[in-house]
Amino acid sequence: MAQFPNHPMFRGFNRPLRIECEVFELEYEGRIPEALNGAFYRCGPDPQFPPRDPNDLGINGDGYVSSFRFQNGHVDFCQRYVRTDKFNEERKARRALFGAYRNPFTDDPSVAGVDRTTANTSTIWYDGRLLACKEDGLPHELHPETLQTLGKFNFGGGLRMPAVTAHPKVDPYTGELVFYGYECSGLAAADAAYCVATADGRLLREDWFALPYPAMIHDFAITRNYVIFPIMPTTSNLERMKAGGDHWRWDPSLPTLLGVMPRDGKVEDIRYLRGPARWSFHTMNAFEESGKILLDTTVAVANAFFKHIDGTPGNPAATPFYLTRWTCDLQGKADGFSETRLYALPSDFYSVDPRYVGRRYRYGFMAVKEPAQPQSTLAPSSFNCVGRIDHHTGDVETFFVGEEAVVQEPVFVPAGPKSAEGAGYLLAVVNRLLENRGDLIILDAMKLAAGPVAVVRLPLLMRMAFHGNWVPEATLERARARQTPELQ
Ligand code: FE
Repeated sequence: MAQFPNHPMFRGFNRPLRIECEVFELEYEGRIPEALNGAFYRCGPDPQFPPRDPNDLGINGDGYVSSFRFQNGHVDFCQRYVRTDKFNEERKARRALFGAYRNPFTDDPSVAGVDRTTANTSTIWYDGRLLACKEDGLPHELHPETLQTLGKFNFGGGLRMPAVTAHPKVDPYTGELVFYGYECSGLAAADAAYCVATADGRLLREDWFALPYPAMIHDFAITRNYVIFPIMPTTSNLERMKAGGDHWRWDPSLPTLLGVMPRDGKVEDIRYLRGPARWSFHTMNAFEESGKILLDTTVAVANAFFKHIDGTPGNPAATPFYLTRWTCDLQGKADGFSETRLYALPSDFYSVDPRYVGRRYRYGFMAVKEPAQPQSTLAPSSFNCVGRIDHHTGDVETFFVGEEAVVQEPVFVPAGPKSAEGAGYLLAVVNRLLENRGDLIILDAMKLAAGPVAVVRLPLLMRMAFHGNWVPEATLERARARQTPELQ
């Protein structure tokens, strides 16, 4: 086999792992809280084969899902690739056939027209199913215990658009899945679709609409009554792609447009509120207050992960993201939105108590880069702390995860169905870069500075994943009870 490129994206702690495994009965220190019965899933990229383009983006790796199965104080681990069409074709060929990130014009002709999604961005739980998602394709259903791939999920065949966001929202009151897709009618198309489905898998609406320009829409937000689509100038261009160029580039000549519409309204009535060019990957939450929509999200002055529209490379280390509140005054006449920074230190990978999605909330959880703490020399732009912001006071409490360590997305787990907002635990994978292995740390979400209540030790390197989710035991049991025989 050819070798992976001698590029930081494929070397050191970023080296592809390519290991599918189970580890039964992980070691741990401390005490596993009794409330933690269920499964913690996470999804990220891990290239099965060396890329066709030696400068390929790390985010183009194949979907790689891990589970931490918590049962009565025991933790078992499982890790598998998502069997996408891309994965299966390349495995047959024993080499990469698909080319650059989201550019099918760079593929081997033998796979023309084959679904290219890597399903590498998030895991979600919906309609009794574990789904691995990426915004350029359909979700892939995985067996909740074995992580075996069961097939693509398209709402029983009801969905017309070819791709679903990796960041859908579940309304905690109605149980509805509110989501969207973009590039619905094809590559670089300036369109998107607003979708709502019932908690039990029935698609209620899929309404396509034209975008002001062909934009990447990685995340969005809901409130009790509204949906907000942040349209920001990371733009696509079909001619550029046909010439073998990038799918996305950053074009700061275009404005940010927050598309706001009532959740039960018509897409024709989306109202766009303008602001300067910004880039945001992830929403923390949004809610309504006194005729305004308050959207808390991570904001940078540019999308430095992609090249500038003129072809110059971005500089992610010099373009930090900050937790920011965008306020839309729906009653005012102004066609803009206001911007307030909520926390002075760089942060991303947010989580909230799932019972407060779209509602006024107090606590947000995040990965933080705290300059006062030692920075990793091996991963200088990574996050070194877990943080909790209290929106009532503005205070932030953090926990430093250690020298030469990187913390991944912290996921909040409520202590119980009736516990107070924020009472519960944070689960986060920490990469120990000098040891070439990882830990899963479990923190009391209201006492971060006290340090983990348990540290679950992994015997292997953990790949940098993107997003995960927690599924309680009772939910897994209900899914087992109604599953088809192969899931028993
Ligand atoms: Fe994301």
